Parts: sequence; structure tokens; C-alpha cells
Amino acid sequence: MARYTEASCRLCRRENEKLFLKGSRCYSDKCAFNRRPTAPGQHGSKGSKMSEYGVQLREKQKVKRIYGVLEKQFRLYFDKAERKPGAAGENLISLLESRLDNVVYRMGFASSRKEARQLVRHNHFLVDGKKVNIPSFSVKEGQVIKVKDDSRKSSKFKEIAEMNETKVPAAYTQVDMEKMEGKMIAAPTKADIEIPIEDHLIVELYSK
Ligand code: SF4
Repeated sequence: MARYTEASCRLCRRENEKLFLKGSRCYSDKCAFNRRPTAPGQHGSKGSKMSEYGVQLREKQKVKRIYGVLEKQFRLYFDKAERKPGAAGENLISLLESRLDNVVYRMGFASSRKEARQLVRHNHFLVDGKKVNIPSFSVKEGQVIKVKDDSRKSSKFKEIAEMNETKVPAAYTQVDMEKMEGKMIAAPTKADIEIPIEDHLIVELYSK
């Protein structure tokens, strides 16, 4: 399956913003962006004014990288967002936030979206009691995500539970960390996201 292979910290430096792609490391002084906040490459530190197109493109790339979605799939999300009633940009955010890997991460059952993706693929989660191992699975309001009983007892999930003990789950979820299960109680909105996104720039880019 196609996925991002570029080193996570390099992506933050390229977007000139912390994208929080590596879990607890992102909050520590080991964060590469804190140590060297310039774009990678020979000309990384040279500042130059970006064109309108450049600004729109960077915003799209940033969002793709946050959610770990490649171009083709991102475009499909956008097309779907446009067909739904309401503002396309906000619909796009809601669709991305509803991905199972993201919901798992936002519930605190993984330390990063990348780790969530891996854990979902490795069959550690049930959605409404059924095994789902597709990271892009779209979670609907009312659905319950649960770490499988065997997995919950593993050292991996004990470590995750400890690490995320103080993490506040997304407002659109209701989580019982002891049982390692959570419910999506509302559809995610733009107000729920962790990193500000200027979705209108993506709409403008795709409307050209
Ligand atoms: Fe980005 Fe996290 Fe790496 Fe810092 S540690 S550069 S926030 S991925």
C-alpha cells in the first residue's frame, strides 16, 4: 500500500510548522523542528516570498502530511467533500477527521496517526464489535471503537495507556481509557482539529 516514506521530521521542516507526526517526541526537546526550524536542503534557510499558488499548495501538502494521505486519495476526499451539503473545506476536514486511524489517535489509543495506522492494520481494533483493519474506514456518529481484549493486555497497549493517561480525547468522542473503548458522539468539525488548517486555500487551489 502506498504511503509516506519521507522522514516525519523532514516533513515538518518542509512545511515550516510542527505537524506532530511522532507522538511524545514532538513534545520533547528532541523535536527536530525546535532544533532546526528551516526547510531541508541546500536552500532551506533562504527566505523568499511565496506566490498565491505556492501558499495554497503548501496548505494542501500540510494537510495531506498531517493525515498521512497521498494525492490521489486526498483528491477523492475533496471531491466527496464538494458533493456534500455545506462548505467543501469544512466537509473535507470532517471526512479526514473521521478516518479510523485518526479517531484511534484522537481517542488516545495510539501516540501518533502513524502508529494508529499500523495498529489498525495489525487488527487490534473492533468497530461496533467487528474487526476493522482499514485505516481509511470512515467512522460514523454513534459507532464504538474498542481495542481487542487480547491486545489491551499486551505491553504495547499498556505503554500507550500510560503515555496517554493525561491526553484529552477529541471533543467529538467519549472515551473509557480503562476499557480502552470510545464512542464517536458527534461528527467532527473544524473546531475539533489540533493544528489550524486554512481549508479555504485548498478549496481555492482545487477550484482553479
Ligand atoms: Fe515534527 Fe514531531 Fe519531528 Fe518535531 S518531533 S519535527 S513535531 S514530527
